[in-house]
Amino acid sequence: MALPGLCNLSRRATVIVALLGATTLACTVAVMTSDELDFVIGGALIDLGYRFQDPVPSRGHRTPSAVWAEVLSHNALAARVRDRFPRSTHHPVVALVVCMDARIDTNELVGDTRRYYYVLRLAGSVMSEREEEMLELAVDHGVEVVVLTTHSECAAEHVASDPALRARYPHLAAGVDEREARRQEFRARPNIAARLRNGTLRVEQVHIDTHTGRLVQRPTPAQAGDPATRTPAVE
Ligand SMILES: [Zn+2]
Repeated sequence: MALPGLCNLSRRATVIVALLGATTLACTVAVMTSDELDFVIGGALIDLGYRFQDPVPSRGHRTPSAVWAEVLSHNALAARVRDRFPRSTHHPVVALVVCMDARIDTNELVGDTRRYYYVLRLAGSVMSEREEEMLELAVDHGVEVVVLTTHSECAAEHVASDPALRARYPHLAAGVDEREARRQEFRARPNIAARLRNGTLRVEQVHIDTHTGRLVQRPTPAQAGDPATRTPAVE
């Protein structure tokens, strides 16, 4: 049985923690610029949306036709909302190259849905010549930062590290093997190399923690070899 004195103490501690929390929140809001405040409130509302939809149950095993009908139905609902609440358009200045793992949500990754980003979702984040050209086209149209990513628990990397799976998915494994070479090939393209040299473009490499979405910056090969251009890790 709980003692009345302890209950009162616990209630008082809860009130004090709540007051401290409210004060901290008020101070944080007070020092934020209006842009930062808009960003945080927008992100909180998006998070609220995820919390509404996450618990919606899938209805057991269904046929592919039933799943496709649901995709169309959800698209119709979403388009109706978009018609009613049209959005402003932004020309992206950042391009993200991200694996197709469904646990990574690029909007959540940066707390942002402003179309500030071009997003390439590729198995194992492995680019082919086509994606390299597409990225260069994006750079020619205003992209200033290209972010090349890897992530924890990557299924493509798992395939590449397992002999039995390599035999079953040889092209995927080969893609992971050549990922870094492709990235160096992209940096070496004449237009990209010139922009990197004159400072009008940055190409960054980050590792994504799949569970938390936290980005850990990794030095690019050029930065790793040159202490003057090395970027500190972001933990
Ligand atoms: Zn992956």
